[in-house]
Amino acid sequence: MADLSGNTWDMGGGFEGNDVLFPSGYDSIARRLSTGLELHLNQVVQRIEYGDRGVQVITDRQEWAGIAAIVTLPIGVLQSGRVTFSPPLPQPHQTAISRLGMGILNKTYLEFPRAFWPSDPDWIGYAAQQPGQWSEWVNMQRAIQRPILLGFNAGRSGLALEAASDDQTVAEALAVLRRMFGKTVPDPTAAWVTRWGRDPFAGGSYSFLRVGATPADRSQLAKPVGDRLFFAGEATSRRYAATVHGAYQSGQHAADRVIATHDL
Ligand SMILES: Cc1cc2nc3c(=O)[nH]c(=O)nc-3n(C[C@H](O)[C@H](O)[C@H](O)COP(=O)(O)OP(=O)(O)OC[C@H]3O[C@@H](n4cnc5c(N)ncnc54)[C@H](O)[C@@H]3O)c2cc1C
Repeated sequence: MADLSGNTWDMGGGFEGNDVLFPSGYDSIARRLSTGLELHLNQVVQRIEYGDRGVQVITDRQEWAGIAAIVTLPIGVLQSGRVTFSPPLPQPHQTAISRLGMGILNKTYLEFPRAFWPSDPDWIGYAAQQPGQWSEWVNMQRAIQRPILLGFNAGRSGLALEAASDDQTVAEALAVLRRMFGKTVPDPTAAWVTRWGRDPFAGGSYSFLRVGATPADRSQLAKPVGDRLFFAGEATSRRYAATVHGAYQSGQHAADRVIATHDL
């Protein structure tokens, strides 16, 4: 909360309708959208050169040349400097990148031999001593018919957990669940733990407006650099930042701009 801009903390749009879980993963959307497209995966972009003659994208395997590039690197990656731009990005872009924040939301999935929690609720809440710590759980049994609980940790709680091993994280989660449901809670049979902050291809979960940032920083980042670099991704979306639909719409918008700019 201390990092979040007080002016814009609740900024953003929404849609009507219920929440939906994707049993086989959110990437089912990307898979469907990418049908028929030529994709080159598993190449790490290291450098992006741009100028009068076009754009060169240099990866750990090869170089790509084009008339323009749509850059959808997460804000955490742009901030890390792991991908260099030549020439360096204009100062207004660099300022916007440094002002925006990259937040943390981590998940811990625990599969149990049997469900010991109430079957009806989608969400189970816990009023933790440390506010926000292990306070939100999703009842996956209801969605996918497997005895799985999903615990969330955001912000500093989520960041602190990234330093812990999987075993330590599971032990912490179990201690909380045993306070909630009693000592008979069994050990889990499997666990999955995310650490988005430590992922070099993410550097966090999704962007937020930190103290000093404004929605104009998102608009600034979304501005093309010359007619060569076009930025997209959730961080560039003023209305739907931090979401898949924000990322999707921003990509469509950037693609439209490339087509219009280069008369394609
Ligand atoms: C725990 C969690 C829960 C969420 N829940 C929801 C939800 O319920 N609803 C919702 O709408 N959104 C949700 N989000 C947010 C949503 O996932 C993001 O807003 C969305 O994925 C952003 O898309 P993007 O294309 O901007 O970035 P990303 O999805 O981060 O894509 C960026 C891509 O760039 C790649 N990349 C990074 N560096 C390099 C490099 N050097 N070379 C090559 N490739 C690179 C990455 O591997 C990645 O594939 C959630 C996110 C998290 C972490």
